[in-house]
Amino acid sequence: MTIYNFSAGPAVLPQKVLETAQSELLNYRGSGMSVMELSHRSSLFDEIICSAESLLRDLMKIPNNYKVLFLQGGASLQFSMVPLNLAQGKKALYVDTGSWSKKAITAAKAIPKVNVEIIASSQDKNYSYIPELPQTVDQEAAYVHITTNNTIEGTAYTTIPNFGKVPIVADMSSNILANDYQVTDFGLIYAGAQKNIGPAGLTVVIIREDLLNQEAIFAPMLDYTLQVKNNSMYNTPPTYSIYIAQLVFEWLKEQGGIDSILKQNKEKAAVLYDAIEKSALFESPVRQDSRSLTNIPFITGTAELDKAFNQAAVAEGFQNLKGHRSVGGMRASLYNAFPLEGVKALVTLMDKFESEHGGK
Ligand code: PMP
Repeated sequence: MTIYNFSAGPAVLPQKVLETAQSELLNYRGSGMSVMELSHRSSLFDEIICSAESLLRDLMKIPNNYKVLFLQGGASLQFSMVPLNLAQGKKALYVDTGSWSKKAITAAKAIPKVNVEIIASSQDKNYSYIPELPQTVDQEAAYVHITTNNTIEGTAYTTIPNFGKVPIVADMSSNILANDYQVTDFGLIYAGAQKNIGPAGLTVVIIREDLLNQEAIFAPMLDYTLQVKNNSMYNTPPTYSIYIAQLVFEWLKEQGGIDSILKQNKEKAAVLYDAIEKSALFESPVRQDSRSLTNIPFITGTAELDKAFNQAAVAEGFQNLKGHRSVGGMRASLYNAFPLEGVKALVTLMDKFESEHGGK
């Protein structure tokens, strides 16, 4: 049976990347060692991390005045590192678009001398849309934090706001490399790797140079400036995750880069959204103009039918379709490596289920 993995993360990786990793597992490039066994100070690993950075720069068109960091601690550690490094003694503005942005807000509030303010929220309608933002914000604020794609609620920004000299800081965990956002629209971007980049354990941070050197940080590992000075090697970086990320970036380049993958992502998402629109049973809880391309929640309207559908899906080899435990229903995560055939197969199953269980 073909398995289609709809997981929101850790998520499906390109088959070709896994095959390359397998073929190189025991003996990397004739070294007689696995990448897992290489010193992070070795020339072989140096080539891997440099190549990963240059491929990422190329794919995302990252200008030279932005630094790229390969860190650990997940996107969740960035919830604390961002305010710690950028906002002490200042106002930090947040847009509240769901579970992950709420966690970012909670973490920022815990940093001393940071004055957190929420400038917009979609909580009133269960985070089912991206809220309208104010025209202007306090120009003395350290940054405006947004979550470009809300993994659990299935919403995404189509345009990135501009607040003059106040930089936009983005949690891009679930749509980095899946969308054609311009790096220059942001002061800082961060993303946990385990969706579109590679395995868990790696966090990518892209930071504009002028945002460095702001605060004396009490913990070296939490200091962007120190991490930049040490090229992400202040301590041992997550070497194997960086290696897989490099293979994923190579694969993405072979696919034609972001423009081409975005086209494919739009096509995949359209197949599912069209099916939901036509269905008399399934519906999307998300407002049309705010719908994510990478995480698509859908519901039947009753918990029993949701459960029955999830059971039917598992029986057919559709893994991890169950919605996040906080919202229920179903959620299809269609990251870059997820195949179009998998979406078509899901739609076929939805049709069959609907004809057996009737419309609303
Ligand atoms: N932000 C977003 C948008 C996410 O989807 C996730 C993980 N699902 C996180 C943050 C947390 O990431 P991590 O587990 O890497 O800390």
